[in-house]
Amino acid sequence: MFQNHVFEIKKWQEKRIKNKNANIIIGNTKNNGLFIKVKNTFIALDCWIPKAELIFISHAHMDHIPRVPLEILEKIRMNKIDVKFICTKISKDIAELRTNNQLIIPEHAWLMGKTPQLPQSMEYKGMKFTIFDNGHAPGSIGLMIEAEEKILYTGDFITEKRCSSEKVVCIRCFNPIPCDYLITECTYGDPSISFPSVAELRKFLNKIVQENLDLGKLIIIPCTIFGKAQVIHEMLQCEEEIILDRDIAAIARILEKNGRALPNWAPYKHYGKRKLKEERNHVLIIPPHAINKSPYNELATPESLIIVPSGRVLFESYRKENPADIYLPLSDHADFKGIITSILESNPKELYLEHGEIEKISHALTNMNLDRLESINFLKTPYWT
Ligand SMILES: [Zn+2]
Ligand SMILES: [Zn+2]
Repeated sequence: MFQNHVFEIKKWQEKRIKNKNANIIIGNTKNNGLFIKVKNTFIALDCWIPKAELIFISHAHMDHIPRVPLEILEKIRMNKIDVKFICTKISKDIAELRTNNQLIIPEHAWLMGKTPQLPQSMEYKGMKFTIFDNGHAPGSIGLMIEAEEKILYTGDFITEKRCSSEKVVCIRCFNPIPCDYLITECTYGDPSISFPSVAELRKFLNKIVQENLDLGKLIIIPCTIFGKAQVIHEMLQCEEEIILDRDIAAIARILEKNGRALPNWAPYKHYGKRKLKEERNHVLIIPPHAINKSPYNELATPESLIIVPSGRVLFESYRKENPADIYLPLSDHADFKGIITSILESNPKELYLEHGEIEKISHALTNMNLDRLESINFLKTPYWT
């Protein structure tokens, strides 16, 4: 039978009981932290919850980095409380950078993700934990927990393998895995949202970039400093060095240390405003909105071309907020078809939706014949990056 439960944030404790295996509880706390409780093991997903013994970090976007209080971190460091982390080395390093070294994960508290091979599995208290690629950002992963039943958390994900060139695979995508409980995102879960393939976008981007470099223009690409900046960087095929803003260069250095070198780049300080004004024909990648501030605002002249890459360029409101010459619909999330296909192939009996268009995905699924699906649950999460 098909049911549609909506979890009210304050009432999840009462509503979670319906149709549930008592050994497995999935929900969110009043602060919107997602969690899984299985066999009395409490796992916080991309957040910190006081009673969690495991903290899973899917990736190092700011809204997914757990805000663990400093006194708790100190207790973890001193081994006074038993809290363990599951995350990749890249996520750990980037999270340390982005929290100004507040979230330092001590070696003894780092349970899984130390080696770069994915997928990887381990036994923990009679359960099997597996982490796997989901393609959303460098170092990003999903989590499968196999107890009596299988619980799958996709994290933010893409469904298309992305290659930087004919030879090199740089980003592996999420591949659906059959499970009993599926927790997944719906950022672009609107049926009208469909993204072109990355191969098409790459071809278009490089054509525009080359044509404008030939005209002696400076190409400026404002984008999210972690995730999008690296995807764009890997897509570009220019002979000239790609120039990176300071914060984007810091991330490039961490990725290099982790064996994921980015091609042919130099930090902005090696060039500077005057040199770029003179030479122009370069590509410069900067943080979003930095185009409105010094020094980059002085480089944004009619002799430059501004390209904004984001899934959100499909929305007029986003384009109004982010003036550009060219918009590139390049997303680090699955589109509607990708989300629906992933749900159908994972074929869960209980579905938990978070991030974005949860009502629209839920509505689309109610019109499909899903024999196994017993319930769709809405998890309230406040962010979407
Ligand atoms: Zn997210
Ligand atoms: Zn993200």
